[in-house]
Amino acid sequence: MPAYSEDQLLLRDTVRSFVADKITPHIETLDAEDTFPAELIAELADLGLFGIPVSEDDGGAGLDLKTTALVVEELARGSAAIAWTLAAHTAYALRPLALYGNDEQKQRCLTDLAEGTRLGGLAAGEPHAGDWHSPHLKTQADGETVLLQGRKGLVTNGSQRGWLLVACREGEEEHVYLVDGQSSGVQAQPGRAKLGLRGADTVFVDFDITLSPADRLADASVLLARARDEGRILAAAVCLGLMEAALIESARYAQERRAFRKPIADFQEIQFKLADMKMAIDAVRGLVFRAVALAQADLPELPTAAASAKLFAAERALEVGKQAVQILGGNGYVSEYPVERMYRDAKVLELIGGPAFAHRSLLARACLAG
Ligand SMILES: Cc1cc2nc3c(=O)[nH]c(=O)nc-3n(C[C@H](O)[C@H](O)[C@H](O)COP(=O)(O)OP(=O)(O)OC[C@H]3O[C@@H](n4cnc5c(N)ncnc54)[C@H](O)[C@@H]3O)c2cc1C
Repeated sequence: MPAYSEDQLLLRDTVRSFVADKITPHIETLDAEDTFPAELIAELADLGLFGIPVSEDDGGAGLDLKTTALVVEELARGSAAIAWTLAAHTAYALRPLALYGNDEQKQRCLTDLAEGTRLGGLAAGEPHAGDWHSPHLKTQADGETVLLQGRKGLVTNGSQRGWLLVACREGEEEHVYLVDGQSSGVQAQPGRAKLGLRGADTVFVDFDITLSPADRLADASVLLARARDEGRILAAAVCLGLMEAALIESARYAQERRAFRKPIADFQEIQFKLADMKMAIDAVRGLVFRAVALAQADLPELPTAAASAKLFAAERALEVGKQAVQILGGNGYVSEYPVERMYRDAKVLELIGGPAFAHRSLLARACLAG
């Protein structure tokens, strides 16, 4: 059975051309300057990529998560930062709103998000506590108004003045609020320099805003778990794209670079490194497909499948990045060649969506439960 439909392959080719024409020529500048590529993002929105898994009635493409993962992977072959911008928008805001927003909330922002006229993000983590499921940020509610004051971060797309979902606590209860990033009570801090994913917008956001109970989304803990799982799947798709790009670059270089009067591609050690990269890509693709299928069928194995896919992908992407640097030798370590950027980009995928221990703990608990 073919892995993708004709339509999915057509879309993949469109994105591949976009990457070749619009992203690859500017990737060194994007990485060096670390500024958010607003114009490129607007062009991607024009292609309809910011609403892939949302119905056409809501301004989306009416496609599925598998197609989203394919697009994210393809973008990541050119820029992991741009791919993650789309992944976070989709998994952390667009999908949670489509799945858990009520009619009025969807009316307010789903079309903006699906058309990409405004970006979305999730403010779950906090400067002094990372666990998404126990937010420290407290709200004060009196039945009619809800006062939200404090800092969240790191938030992807947090300074884009789009729509933010903010996790917080009222007493023992966990809530998620829909917050308009254009409100004066929402102030993003200037972004800090990052090791990788340079160009992605990752910021702390300060809130001092009065909301209403109507801004509260339903099923906070279910919503956050789903956003975490789909975020992990799309993060794994970013890893796939990164690994493929590193393999292509390594294979190209190995055939051009000569040592001891022959291309280094003739050495078995180099060939085996390429083979290991290929195996990693194939294995990660399988895990991504499985996790996507479970998400689309809404099955209870989704959390473990998403954790397996994301952690395995992130660890393999880091290893593939390291081996790509090794294949390019000294050239692999300098910015003239793209693999050092890929290696830096891969590191953060181990952190995004929760650190490695959180994935392993979840998997271990599932094993022990039988
Ligand atoms: C580029 C980027 C984009 C991001 N985007 C978003 C976003 O859009 N929205 C959002 O909400 N967050 C976002 N984050 C935050 C991200 O989710 C967190 O950084 C991640 O979950 C790790 O949490 P932490 O940084 O608080 O680490 P911590 O939880 O503080 O962990 C620090 C270290 O302690 C270890 N540790 C912690 N607890 C335990 C334990 N119980 N047992 C063993 N070891 C433990 C961890 O493994 C880690 O090594 C982003 C982060 C980055 C870097």
